Amino acid sequence: SLRCGIVGLPNVGKSTLFNAITAKQAEAANYPFCTIEPNVGTVLVPDERMQLIANVVKTPTLVPTTLEIVDIAGLVKGASKGEGLGNQFLSHIREVDAIVHVVRCFDDENIIHVEGRIDPADDIITIETELMLADLDSMERRIERLRKNAKKEKELLLQVDLAEKIISGLSEGIPARKLIETDEEKEMAKQFFLLSTKPILFAANVAENDIVDGNAYTRKVAEIAAASGSKMLIISAKTEADIAELPEEDRPEFLESLGLKMSGLDRLIQTAYDLLGLQTYFTAGVKEVHAWTIRKGAAAPEAAAAIHSDFEKGFIRAEVMFYHDLIELGSEQKVKEAGKLRSEGKEYIVKDGDVIVFRFNV
Ligand code: GDP
Repeated sequence: SLRCGIVGLPNVGKSTLFNAITAKQAEAANYPFCTIEPNVGTVLVPDERMQLIANVVKTPTLVPTTLEIVDIAGLVKGASKGEGLGNQFLSHIREVDAIVHVVRCFDDENIIHVEGRIDPADDIITIETELMLADLDSMERRIERLRKNAKKEKELLLQVDLAEKIISGLSEGIPARKLIETDEEKEMAKQFFLLSTKPILFAANVAENDIVDGNAYTRKVAEIAAASGSKMLIISAKTEADIAELPEEDRPEFLESLGLKMSGLDRLIQTAYDLLGLQTYFTAGVKEVHAWTIRKGAAAPEAAAAIHSDFEKGFIRAEVMFYHDLIELGSEQKVKEAGKLRSEGKEYIVKDGDVIVFRFNV
């Protein structure tokens, strides 16, 4: 399952948000694949298409995809030098696919800010700097080893070049994600386990009144996100905690009273999914409708591997229909009659919303 790590300075609302996530996790608790760990919340990725497909194939069982959200407490200025939880904190970030960076965008005199003032731009720089310093530190140690080994193994010279480029960029305050350009570099950089390459989603935490329109702070965050190719969303951690406590049937009305269509948490999950370049396809039958997560651009055999690695090896063909056709025409048989059930080979690039049956050898 994919992992997002929640980071942010102290007192910005991380725990409040994480508690709302844990409350939501209770809804996912029936799913056997949910592991329960104290600092990890597993949430279901909301997808309205599943129920529509289930109505057509007449199954009561929906198996959504999930996202794991890890609470990574302890980032303070100086973490890369071992302040606070320091290195332990940084090693947790290494394990996530994306970072959700909670930024304080609410005023409240009763809740002190570590720097004594609300300044989202500065808070963002503080965190990004810690990540870059940690990367710089690990790259400086790594390049020594690389240089030594490159004397015997000439292939390593390319890695040395890349390491030098990353070190000099980081020293100038440029995050590694901007320094690693070609596919070849991306492949090579995987083994460097860098933190400042992770995609970032800024969660601008506001008071309830500002959820819909934001405020001057959130506009600043939006500006920074746009300039750095990150994503952002406006969320009220406190309100999410309130929503999580409501019975499910009362939530739509409450959201509507706030001027929202979807809870912030659902928006967060969907934005993270999008940030990671992911999409969903479905398998559907009388047993269940199952959503599967794959990379955008994945070909059919890779998509099959989401179900089982044997499916990829033994892949023969994929029988594909678009969920919309299935819903509109009302049954698989009708889709077939309309000539809209396609038989696709290895090269087929799976699309978001495809409903697929794989044919494979075992
Ligand atoms: P953390 O240190 O980042 O985990 O922050 P917490 O989640 O513990 O929040 C710090 C304090 O800010 C708590 O007292 C929260 O109740 C409060 N808080 C969180 N979000 C909001 C908000 O949107 N508005 C206000 N006024 N207080 C908030």
